[in-house]
Amino acid sequence: MIEKEELIDYWIKSGIVKNKSIIKAFRDVSREDFISGELVGQAYGDYPLPIKCDQTISQPTTIVIMLEALELKKTDKVLEIGTGSGYNAALISKLAEFVYTTEFFEELADFAQENIEKAGIKNIEIIHTDGSMGYSKEAPYDKIIATAGCPSIPEPWIEQLKEGGIIVAPVGKWYGQRMLKIKKIKGKLKEENLGSFMFVPLRGKYGV
Ligand code: SAH
Repeated sequence: MIEKEELIDYWIKSGIVKNKSIIKAFRDVSREDFISGELVGQAYGDYPLPIKCDQTISQPTTIVIMLEALELKKTDKVLEIGTGSGYNAALISKLAEFVYTTEFFEELADFAQENIEKAGIKNIEIIHTDGSMGYSKEAPYDKIIATAGCPSIPEPWIEQLKEGGIIVAPVGKWYGQRMLKIKKIKGKLKEENLGSFMFVPLRGKYGV
């Protein structure tokens, strides 16, 4: 069984995580609280695990790569697309001011709500909606993160991002995507490719 501290050691030694507050967030949030009974023993395996509705909780290393790229600040208002178990939102909640997280499946939105309440986290709002259209009600956001693969970056996300803001999202069809970090500078987009990853597909209006 892989232990939490082994993963942390690997991230520090390999340089994957530089921001110490990400390590602290990972220590503070228990991944085992966001997965179902029989998988709890695998909580710190460095791979995705199944949750409800044929979806997955992302691989820990993938999550920290995305969190590092988001350059989160304590004052940030963040939008997440793809709540799933609520685990990633819980990590972000420790690094930002508030997280709005959208989930397509009601059953998962409810599952995440329970998990977040159990974890005693207050600065997250879960919205059962099609997050491919963003969430205009609380826009604009400092940061936007998607944990489902998008065919291309949906226009509403760009509109709902603040000037100087960052989007991190896997882009590409089906299960092979490029992780893009996009910065909005003077209305223009500066794109960086963080490598290849595998995510479940984004659904909804701007989905696959
Ligand atoms: N971040 C999650 C993992 C998410 S897996 C965690 O930490 O557990 C991707 C999630 O995106 C799935 O739950 C899927 O239902 C959701 N999803 C897919 N398309 C979506 C859409 N258009 N709007 C909101 N959620 C979506």
